[in-house]
Amino acid sequence: MRSLSYVRPSNIGEAIEAFAVAGEGARYIAGGTTLYDLMKLGVERPAHLIDIASLEGSDRIDTSGEVLFFGAGALMADVAENEVVRRDYPVLAESLSKAASQQLRNMATVGGNLLQRTRCPYFRNGAIGAYPCNKRAPGSGCAAIGGLDRGQAVLGISDACTAVSPGDWPVALTAMDAWIELHGPDGARSIPIAEFYLLPGETPHREFSIVAGEIVTGISVPKTEAGRRSTYLKVRDRESYAFALASAAVALAMEGDRVRQAHIAIGGVATRPWRSHEAEAVLSGRAIDRQSALAAGRAAFANAQAGAHNAFKIEVGARTLADAIMTAGGKTQ
Ligand SMILES: Cc1cc2nc3c(=O)[nH]c(=O)nc-3n(C[C@H](O)[C@H](O)[C@H](O)COP(=O)(O)OP(=O)(O)OC[C@H]3O[C@@H](n4cnc5c(N)ncnc54)[C@H](O)[C@@H]3O)c2cc1C
Repeated sequence: MRSLSYVRPSNIGEAIEAFAVAGEGARYIAGGTTLYDLMKLGVERPAHLIDIASLEGSDRIDTSGEVLFFGAGALMADVAENEVVRRDYPVLAESLSKAASQQLRNMATVGGNLLQRTRCPYFRNGAIGAYPCNKRAPGSGCAAIGGLDRGQAVLGISDACTAVSPGDWPVALTAMDAWIELHGPDGARSIPIAEFYLLPGETPHREFSIVAGEIVTGISVPKTEAGRRSTYLKVRDRESYAFALASAAVALAMEGDRVRQAHIAIGGVATRPWRSHEAEAVLSGRAIDRQSALAAGRAAFANAQAGAHNAFKIEVGARTLADAIMTAGGKTQ
């Protein structure tokens, strides 16, 4: 039997200190809905758990300032149900309400959601003698390449990894140019979400721009009028309680009936939440109709690379994005 220590600090400073004292094998835990899962599967084997679920003020939600602020410890359910978020930024609320199940959203935090790991079945098989996986065991190989790749990514892949970034909320945050607030042994910093998620390249085990001992303390989202014309569309194998096969976060700032600025990100199809500046450029200055929406959808996947069983994601993804653009633009499909 392996021993496991557990502490529950009450503020950020104590948590960072506890992490440093615990040393190798330390992990922060919030709602535990990802981490306990991975421990049961043998993928994560922490020796010390530092519970940050109840850090002072970590669940603060503030929509009254210049930016929207979500404390990392805020529950997914509480942000999804926040009245201002639902009214002015439906893309954010919908990305959360379409994720997981109500029970999970009542437990899981918006900070933990950012850091959840891939659902690639080869990664999640942590048993002894498991399939090779460069993300789980660097240098061991990738069984998904040439294997069962129906769920794998078609954008941002490398020869070392094709695992999909699973979260919905990070896709919506990417479209809305969010910033991630971090506190660590060297102080506080804030980075754009585009820099928070790393491409797999040769080092797929490195997924986030976060250093040992750092805590995500909050997420800031710049306020924009485009929030009101926004939506998150998620297509999956079954209607609820499933990860995305393809998803799209779209927010539109209009000038008359023409798009002044589009904010577009796609999910379920890429190795990280995927901003599509290509799709945004297609829509710029155009009216929203089926033709422009589909042209934007196709542009987002122009550089997609499919394996043996996941080529369908390119068409599903393009059409999912087109449908989301039509909805955000107030057009019937
Ligand atoms: C059956 C099932 C279905 C799901 N379906 C979906 C879905 O459709 N869409 C979706 O988006 N998600 C889905 N999820 C994932 C779920 O949303 C995440 O498990 C949850 O958001 C993680 O939050 P948590 O607070 O429980 O994180 P934890 O499990 O506590 O932590 C997750 C990881 O983040 C780290 N961590 C947590 N908080 C911080 C912090 N503040 N700073 C630094 N590190 C931190 C932990 O060390 C750990 O590595 C599903 C999960 C399950 C089990």
